[in-house]
Amino acid sequence: MSTPSLNNFINHINSQHLPAILKIQNVLLMELQKFAHDQGFIQIMPLLMSPITDPLNHDVYPAELQYEERKLKLTASMIFHKQLALIPENINKIYIMAPNIRLELAKKKSSSNHLLEFSQFDIEIKNANMDEIMAFIEKLYVHIFAVIEKECAAELTLLGRKLPKMKGAFPRYSTEGMPLTEVDAFCNKLSAESPVPCFVTNFKREFYDKEDPAKKGVYRNFDLVYPENYGEALSGAEREYEYNQIIRRMQELNTNLTAYENYLEMSKHKLIPRTAGCGIGIQRLLKFICGKPQIKDVCLFDRSILSEFTF
Ligand code: AMP
Ligand code: MG
Repeated sequence: MSTPSLNNFINHINSQHLPAILKIQNVLLMELQKFAHDQGFIQIMPLLMSPITDPLNHDVYPAELQYEERKLKLTASMIFHKQLALIPENINKIYIMAPNIRLELAKKKSSSNHLLEFSQFDIEIKNANMDEIMAFIEKLYVHIFAVIEKECAAELTLLGRKLPKMKGAFPRYSTEGMPLTEVDAFCNKLSAESPVPCFVTNFKREFYDKEDPAKKGVYRNFDLVYPENYGEALSGAEREYEYNQIIRRMQELNTNLTAYENYLEMSKHKLIPRTAGCGIGIQRLLKFICGKPQIKDVCLFDRSILSEFTF
């Protein structure tokens, strides 16, 4: 072939491991949805563009497009739409297979764990607290790993992967009182040393993660961290939904309020429900299950930070 990038693509698409990874992915996607469905969740469709999207707690290149007179953002996460989707009476639990665009800065994020487009298995529950979401996650992981171990035994053997044991409940560690500069290192150490997934709680991040009303400066949120150095698995939280508190948190984080006019108007009229939820990075989960070193290893088409965008 004429270029190294084409050669890389051809080697990847013909690799013996790829069909095994795709089979595991297939079982994973089916089981995530089936598990949520069986627990009474309603699946809603993802959106790709919107006047507002997740402001994120780190810098990315802007991902916007112009339609007629309007500027629309490509979805970085469905966070606000998840809250709004829970407005209807009798819609209490939702999930989305949600594609996200995040044009991560190559200098700041590692290409082994970051894609420019990826998908979340995104869930949100009305009137839930973070403990209920974490309990759901523990059950979900135990279930997924048991099914994959059983249904994908041949594929795991081909990949040379022995899955770590998944037993609920995962250990929990709070970062309350920890200096901000030490939080990342703490999570990395857990990921390197713990034999099981761990929850880490109470991060300071986006305005929509709920501040503990009883403890200012403490946030009712969590991450799950994978063992074996696979890093962050998911992030979740109880959400801010009350107008005064949202405004306070936005101002604290120097957020441009104009963009959120409609959202703020909804909260002012108490129309945003109280919810909690989380989003699992699907490719990260697949990478962990398959025991691969690079996130692009489990993607049919490479969209990692250092992608050559061959196709
Ligand atoms: P966040 O709410 O930003 O933590 O995103 C939810 C989950 O999506 C994270 O915990 C990761 O598992 C996954 N994720 C976030 N950013 C990326 C990315 N750039 N590439 C792949 N997965 C990601
Ligand atoms: Mg996160």
